[in-house]
Amino acid sequence: MFIGHYAVGMAAKKWAPKTSLGTLLAAALWLDILWPFFLLLDLEHVRVAPGITRMVPFDFYDYPLSHSLFMALAWSVLVGLLYVAFTKDGRGAWVMGGLVASHWVLDLFVHRPDLPIWPTEFTNMAATKVGLSIWTSVWGTLLLEFGLFALGIWLYLQATKAKDQTGTLAFWGLALFLAVMYVVDLKMTPPNNVNLISLAGFSQLLMVAWGYWIDDHRKNR
Ligand SMILES: [Zn+2]
Repeated sequence: MFIGHYAVGMAAKKWAPKTSLGTLLAAALWLDILWPFFLLLDLEHVRVAPGITRMVPFDFYDYPLSHSLFMALAWSVLVGLLYVAFTKDGRGAWVMGGLVASHWVLDLFVHRPDLPIWPTEFTNMAATKVGLSIWTSVWGTLLLEFGLFALGIWLYLQATKAKDQTGTLAFWGLALFLAVMYVVDLKMTPPNNVNLISLAGFSQLLMVAWGYWIDDHRKNR
């Protein structure tokens, strides 16, 4: 899932008014932010496999540290605890932890059965992998991603209003950019090169920075 994660981060502002949009987006994207680091460190692996699903040409055959259910819950607890330790905002911490966990749930709907339940590195049990494969349907995927995206934008706009013109333009700029990039991405065959795939993954950090910029120019309703 791509823009759906952003949608959940935006929507969360309603329940965590003190938390910056940048921080909320980072939590919603957290597992995908870790992923390029683990790829570069050779701890996780991916290969390009055009046609493996209708929507996403990646074979995610090894990514238990970022995308197993067990580790997603562990990251969720860690992010929530770190957040409350630094901000003393208990409510925000629950939302942050929930956002990290939401990533795995959303991925569960779209991925092939490639999401591990636990990292087999730590056990000698065979991997159990799950995924409901919505990516095998073009219209199913677009409906889900853009449906969530519209809902996320709507909830975010209910929770905040622009302080100045930048607050309006920066937010709609991000929304438009994500929607366009999502569609452009679908049309591209990615290079079979881990460094370039990681680089694309790191671009999400720019979106997080964009979120902080937006937040500076908007206030809660
Ligand atoms: Zn993911």
